[in-house]
Amino acid sequence: MPNHVAKLSFWGVRGSTPTVDRANWRYGGNTPCLELVAPDGTQFILDCGTGLRALGNRWTEIHGTKAIEAHICVTHYHWDHIQGIPFFAPLYVPQNHFHFYSFRSEFLGRDSLKQVFEAQMAHPYFPVDLSAMSAVRQFSEVSGGDRFEIRGTRITTRLLNHPQGCLGYRLETPAGTVVYATDNEPGVRKLDASLLELAAGADIFINDAQYTPEQLATTRKGWGHSSWLAGVQVAREAGVRNLVLFHHDPDSSDRIVDGLLRDAREKFENVWAASEGMVMSLGEKRVEVLLPAEPSGLRQEGHFRARVEGYTEEGRAFQEETVIRDLTLQGALIYLNHSPRLQSELQVLMEAPGDESRSNSRLRLRGYVVRLEPGPQKDQTAVGIVFTE
Ligand SMILES: [Zn+2]
Ligand SMILES: [Zn+2]
Repeated sequence: MPNHVAKLSFWGVRGSTPTVDRANWRYGGNTPCLELVAPDGTQFILDCGTGLRALGNRWTEIHGTKAIEAHICVTHYHWDHIQGIPFFAPLYVPQNHFHFYSFRSEFLGRDSLKQVFEAQMAHPYFPVDLSAMSAVRQFSEVSGGDRFEIRGTRITTRLLNHPQGCLGYRLETPAGTVVYATDNEPGVRKLDASLLELAAGADIFINDAQYTPEQLATTRKGWGHSSWLAGVQVAREAGVRNLVLFHHDPDSSDRIVDGLLRDAREKFENVWAASEGMVMSLGEKRVEVLLPAEPSGLRQEGHFRARVEGYTEEGRAFQEETVIRDLTLQGALIYLNHSPRLQSELQVLMEAPGDESRSNSRLRLRGYVVRLEPGPQKDQTAVGIVFTE
């Protein structure tokens, strides 16, 4: 049976510079890199930020010695969108074949992206010579407004409003449409209208949400980025089904991104905050979102009574008593009769584990929902949470 699903994976979601701060590990610190696999298996990469390294390692693992072919769409030449290139292992394997697409920069001229490769690996910036990159590399110049097709996936590009230029990409696969529009500042009428056309009716619209609406109006005006509010406005007007907040500011902690997502969800139904490891599947008339399972840690099986408060998928507040049977230092798996919303917060009031003598010792924890699966009993949901500070 043919596969009718396209799969979009987020390997890097952070803007401007990679981060390794504890305060933002949950959404992730790698710079932009997305992988889109069309229903027929054709592989696309959107941007080559530091997330590209982990994607390369994953491909090496699953493909083994089989040749890899992929189409790589680059939005622009700012560091955060190209710095993963020298660390993409499949580029050093002769039988692999990569097709690159990007625009001609007025600062670089002909073969802009090819020049970026050469400059990145020139002495004294990188220890290995470009000649070590033995994979076949083909470079195609595209400009705003172009349309082309790659094995049944139609691609449209549009210029965005960003210093030194940036391209937005619309990829129409047979299973659904993904629009990738990062590094864009709203406010130029012609380009705003162009973005609306690019995003029209998309199943997934990934938009720059680096700043708060207040920052965008004041201190960060003219820096080339957008806000969740501007993204919501485009999503509404363009009739988008799912909005993904992307290109998180390096100084935005997880708590800050949680807050931006909460604000956006008050104004638009289907909003997600891009998170490293997040996978969105586009099937017939449906988009499914999966987050990476909680990190493993010291695991404690037990029987801890807990009271859980949160919001359901429909946005209703709920409260229920449950028993936690599987607990790690980072998170827990709990079974609930309610189905909380993915990427929402739960308050967990739990008996302190391991101390039965102190009957009134209670632990108040804040959990963040990363996984939802059917529970062991009918109408139950197994909810994976990670604890946040
Ligand atoms: Zn950027
Ligand atoms: Zn940029």
